[in-house]
Amino acid sequence: MTETLYIVIPCYNEELVISETVRRLTEKLDSMVEHGLIKENSRMMLVNDGSKDNTWNIIEELYSSNKYVTGISLSRNRGHQNALLAGLFEAAKYSDMVVSMDADLQDDIEVLDDFVKKYYEGCQIVYGVRKNRKKDSFFKRTTALAFYKMMNMLGVELVYNHADYRLMSRRAIHELENYKEVNLFLRGIVPMIGFQTGTVAYDRGERFAGESKYPLGKMIYFALDGITSTTVKPIRMITAMGFITALISLVFLIYFIVIHFLGKTVAGWTTTVVLVCLFGGLQIMCIGVVGEYVGKIYLETKKRPRYIVQDILHK
Ligand code: UDP
Ligand code: MG
Repeated sequence: MTETLYIVIPCYNEELVISETVRRLTEKLDSMVEHGLIKENSRMMLVNDGSKDNTWNIIEELYSSNKYVTGISLSRNRGHQNALLAGLFEAAKYSDMVVSMDADLQDDIEVLDDFVKKYYEGCQIVYGVRKNRKKDSFFKRTTALAFYKMMNMLGVELVYNHADYRLMSRRAIHELENYKEVNLFLRGIVPMIGFQTGTVAYDRGERFAGESKYPLGKMIYFALDGITSTTVKPIRMITAMGFITALISLVFLIYFIVIHFLGKTVAGWTTTVVLVCLFGGLQIMCIGVVGEYVGKIYLETKKRPRYIVQDILHK
């Protein structure tokens, strides 16, 4: 028995790529239907994340000319993760399984067959995993590796070299709906859902047109968000650091008292200045880390909507 697949694609200012993306995916969906892998009512769902260019107009045109195209438009730009979430929840209303991928088709669409096969074998979640990072710049490669190492050290369960190219069953998406957080880091949350999972290896190419919507600044924030929305380990590390410095101070204290009574207390200006600076810096940093979490709590307690859907194109 075949089932219905939806492909969710967040689009932010992607006027240069979506027509080509839809063309390639149409061919792919046609062939998958032909091979009896998916039902004919399978679709792509293009999520317009408040684009400032012609993206939504193009989606509307494609909707009227291509039977596979559906779309939703958010009321404003909410960022990749929120756009993805909106698409997943909307697509789960009509489908049995949903694959999410980027609009630029950097992720090889030929492995869609493998995703679907794993689903039929019983997987509720299938992670797309990059075979290698040869196409990445040296900088991106090393920072990505450092990020995974750090997350690992902090005890966060991440799938190595997996971004947001994944298949989720309708059931898994329903479970995802119970994770109400507004600070979204999907690749940290999805592994928490559990169930039977699988992986599919693929090659990641380069963007065929347009430019990256993830400049360095956004990427750093995203990484920090990933840490603070999945683990409180950094706060614990501060506590541990406090304990250690308190212990060391105690040793020094004893030493200072001893030399005081020995009458050798004139020298030591450098030590004083260095220690004052060091602890001043450390304290401000620690307050900052705790503040990050307080800020997160602030945002979470407001329970603001993660996105607002403005238009839906679906028959
Ligand atoms: N994206 C989005 N909203 C944003 C930024 C990006 O929906 O605010 C989408 C974008 O259109 C693309 C995907 O997220 O489909 C990934 O972006 P991009 O390919 O630019 O990131 P990169 O591959 O360079 O990390
Ligand atoms: Mg990309």
